[in-house]
Amino acid sequence: MTQLKPSLMDYTLKELQAIVKPSFRAKQIYGWLYHQYASSYDDMKNIPKTLKEELAQTHLVNPLKIVNKELSSDGTIKYLLELQDGKTMEAVWLKMKDEQYGDDGEVVQEAKYTICVSTQVGCKVGCSFCLTAKGGFTRDLSAGEIVAQVVTLKRDNNHKHNRKINIVYMGMGEPLDNLTNLAKAIEIFQENDGLSISGKRQTVSTSGLSTKIDKLGEMDLGVHIAISLHAVDDELRSELIPMNKAHNINSIIEAVKRFPIDTRKRVMFEYLVIKDKNDDITSAKKLVKLLSGIKAKVNLIYFNPYPGTDYERPSYDDMFAFQEYLVKHGLLCTIRDSKGIDISAACGQLKEKTQGEQNG
Ligand code: SAH
Ligand code: SF4
Repeated sequence: MTQLKPSLMDYTLKELQAIVKPSFRAKQIYGWLYHQYASSYDDMKNIPKTLKEELAQTHLVNPLKIVNKELSSDGTIKYLLELQDGKTMEAVWLKMKDEQYGDDGEVVQEAKYTICVSTQVGCKVGCSFCLTAKGGFTRDLSAGEIVAQVVTLKRDNNHKHNRKINIVYMGMGEPLDNLTNLAKAIEIFQENDGLSISGKRQTVSTSGLSTKIDKLGEMDLGVHIAISLHAVDDELRSELIPMNKAHNINSIIEAVKRFPIDTRKRVMFEYLVIKDKNDDITSAKKLVKLLSGIKAKVNLIYFNPYPGTDYERPSYDDMFAFQEYLVKHGLLCTIRDSKGIDISAACGQLKEKTQGEQNG
């Protein structure tokens, strides 16, 4: 296996200060990484050459390279990123809100963006509807490889370091299956001398490793969680998400109830709607019952089909009726607008496409 070099983005400021002396140099390097988005040691003008040469022997600056980019008509940009060992994974730049203009044509409110990041190359969970799962599991991403996705996308979109950004851990991989590196990345994002992205702006999406939900909660990082529920009974959920057998619906609901949540916020439950599988009103009814007593918000997602899958996208009418039922029964519920649908922005789909093209 290739020996991977760590990168400067693998460290909190305190950790970097233990490596780089004197410590004010570590702070300067942090500025180069997270405020100037330096991509090489050459960029770091005020850092002594000897120190840079020394660091370059053991550390990369940014471990990622953009190898493909697809722009959607709604402003979504999907990136295929290459790691130092040649493996690839994806990150997505999502435009959540357009800029607002005043009467004189001046921008009065800047556009709002969210970055969707990956935490692994591939995934071990093996959900039957997910394209990422088809390629199996390759490896965990390091903290620096997670952090670098945000730096790389912000730089590519000329998004200044002090402009607000939200992060969702909803790309390739199961974040809680790589908890140590995930937690480190969350901390690095929060650094005041770095990108200064608070926990409130970060949402960890999980397929429901209930014991790890507890562990993340104990770390008290202030992040939100989103649960990929997708089914209301264990039989169907185990068909969709095989590890439901070990972490069943009840264990997930109990873990969510224990999770430290900002009292003004809600836990997001993602519900992937698949035609004739889970799009009926009986399921909606069970969902209302299941979530009673939890400050929840449901996000309905249209299944996004890809070649080779037997699952189908639900009809608009069934989706709407499902949402209406939930709302009528007091649940906050949105339908995820299919951002980037023209560039197949669901998890794992750009990677598959590029590989398919490369293979002929
Ligand atoms: N592993 C984590 C986070 C990454 S998956 C999790 O499962 O929550 C990110 C989201 O993409 C999940 O909510 C998943 O349900 C969704 N997804 C996967 N395949 C999809 C598809 N074909 N169409 C629509 N959404 C999909
Ligand atoms: Fe992994 Fe999430 Fe895909 Fe399931 S949906 S295989 S947990 S990435």
